[in-house]
Amino acid sequence: MLNSTQRLKIQLMTNGMAVSTGARAALSREAESRPLTLAEYASTSGIALELEGQIWVNAPIADHNPNFVAATPHRLEHRADEFWVCSGRDEVRARPVPVPAFHDQENDDGEPFTDYAVTHTDRVRISPIGGCSFACAFCDLPFKMRYRRKTIKGLVDAVRRALADEVLPARHVLISGGVPAGEDWEWQNQAYGAVAEAFPDVDVDVMMVPVPGLLDARRLRDLGIHGLSLNLELYDLERARRIMPRKAGIPRQHWLDFIEDAVDVFGPGRIRSLVLVGIEPLEETLKAVQALAERGCEPVLSPFRPDPATPMRDHPPPSVEVLAEVYERSVEITRRAGARLGPRCLPCMHNTLTFPEDAVDDGSAWPGS
Ligand code: SF4
Repeated sequence: MLNSTQRLKIQLMTNGMAVSTGARAALSREAESRPLTLAEYASTSGIALELEGQIWVNAPIADHNPNFVAATPHRLEHRADEFWVCSGRDEVRARPVPVPAFHDQENDDGEPFTDYAVTHTDRVRISPIGGCSFACAFCDLPFKMRYRRKTIKGLVDAVRRALADEVLPARHVLISGGVPAGEDWEWQNQAYGAVAEAFPDVDVDVMMVPVPGLLDARRLRDLGIHGLSLNLELYDLERARRIMPRKAGIPRQHWLDFIEDAVDVFGPGRIRSLVLVGIEPLEETLKAVQALAERGCEPVLSPFRPDPATPMRDHPPPSVEVLAEVYERSVEITRRAGARLGPRCLPCMHNTLTFPEDAVDDGSAWPGS
């Protein structure tokens, strides 16, 4: 049974949040006129908050999601030097996460660091490929950015800058971004190795589609990669073929075999897979959770957030009731399978349907948590 703050997180994900004039002014003052958020991906378009009880949420705002954040009953307020999420007569103390100091800075080659890297809570995400050679209808990357290969030097420089950030220092790294075209597969693996080698004391994870021939779990482990996120997203094949045709073109058995093998190679707690909630029937989502959990993979429930730049901009986000049911039944499924929901890092839960009870805190909490 969800407590009231957990339920608030779910409500914020579904309805979004208004930001009062006072809260905007306070955030702007505290952040020296930095933007409210580095909205650069569908599921990280809002303001990241830590609510009471170490419950992290990325709350969509109308600035970036006018397509569904309208008459929301939730409002971020600032009073007496504290931030509160107010919902009618209910108030929950909140701590907004500032954007990093590097948000408007450039590297030695005059490129914005944010061309390479974005930090939202305590994890910096870098993207070796801009855009994507695939085109999933829920993802903004192929619709906002043209396909391009970046530079390995730029990636390493950006991680170094993010780890040393004065406002929001990153504690771990995720290498994600678009799927490389075939001619860039070897380069992509070199990029993985270069980042892992440059920062041997930092956990570096890889999020990528297990396209046959692109990823090799043993090679990635030997390069020093800490763990993998292999995102199944949807389970219903007919729907998957319509919404993410290139991903659905990879045989289901290959996905599951790759995931099972990766769990063997990397060990417990190192392999995750995002499952989108709210696009397909709930029972299909739960089948995905079951298939992943029984292979030792940690399913990550990712509430669908319609991005205005995508063909799915008018598809509504999942209701509070659907999210609550998927969450509660997924907890049961993973427990029965001897697994757990991911991610394990508390701040990384900001855009996932996960709570502190579900995962061990691996010590990577935001400073002051
Ligand atoms: S494969 Fe990944 S990055 Fe590419 S369009 Fe699909 S979800 Fe986006």
